[in-house]
Amino acid sequence: MKHLHSGKVRDLYELPGGELLMVARDTISAFDYVLDTPIPDKGRILTQLSLWWFERLADLLPNHILSTGLPPGAPAEWAGRAVVARRLDMVPVECVARGYLTGSGLKEYANAGSVCGVPLPGGLVDGSRLPEPIFTPTTKAAVGDHDEPMTFAEVETAVGADLAARLRELTLAVYGRGAELARERGIIVADTKIELGRTADGELVLADEVLTPDSSRFWPLDAWEPGRSQPSFDKQFVRDWLVSPESGWDRASGEAPPPLPPEIVDRTRAKYIEAYERITGRTF
Ligand code: ATP
Ligand code: MG
Repeated sequence: MKHLHSGKVRDLYELPGGELLMVARDTISAFDYVLDTPIPDKGRILTQLSLWWFERLADLLPNHILSTGLPPGAPAEWAGRAVVARRLDMVPVECVARGYLTGSGLKEYANAGSVCGVPLPGGLVDGSRLPEPIFTPTTKAAVGDHDEPMTFAEVETAVGADLAARLRELTLAVYGRGAELARERGIIVADTKIELGRTADGELVLADEVLTPDSSRFWPLDAWEPGRSQPSFDKQFVRDWLVSPESGWDRASGEAPPPLPPEIVDRTRAKYIEAYERITGRTF
């Protein structure tokens, strides 16, 4: 198999038949750094969660999964965190839906009263639930660059009005399904990003990963309190420890964060497993 790309968390290979092999690593990122300390099983947990969602979204749109078995020649340690997928022509837009206001959306709102050109009512604060979920697409930036917000008109210019309308419709449909299901299990999906690609005959297909803590913000419903930053389901221990005096790390220094202590690794791993188990109802 041919190595194509290594991103922040996944390695991509091309199989002899032209299919894509996507392998998730156990890497975690925080404050825009990829940390040196892996979270054991994270790759498997997020891959399995994505697969679970793909099935639950299959009536809304097709997905890129061809097989979850390991292809010949793949190392056994990739089992459970590798998928064989249809190689697609990726749409050059990151399709984001937001049901709650935080992060870059909150910053844009504070400056402009809108997010990606979508006007919002006044008085919203960090963590506010939006009157209805909105489509807030961004550019797909090259490695090292930040994704920039796009207005819907900009998406129309980039990909055409018909495709832009489909992207918005599908992104909101995926978010709606995900948010509803997760909420029943005590988890708020504040926002999520999906990636769509096209087959040779122009069919739109859901690619990459879906509704995982890496592509979405998951908040515990029982701790939700607008007006402050919400505890994040998965990375809270990591972030809290990194900014605590214990870590000895100065975020403003521009230096990479230090290795995580075993206790923080264990608690973070437990959180990922809890998210998986709560959402899917399965045991990891
Ligand atoms: P990073 O996440 O570090 O910013 P990245 O998104 O490029 O970089 P990963 O998420 O690790 O890296 O790797 C996934 C890559 O594979 C993405 O570029 C994504 O667009 C691409 N991809 C996912 N599914 C498909 C597919 N079915 N066909 C083609 N490309 C795909
Ligand atoms: Mg990615």
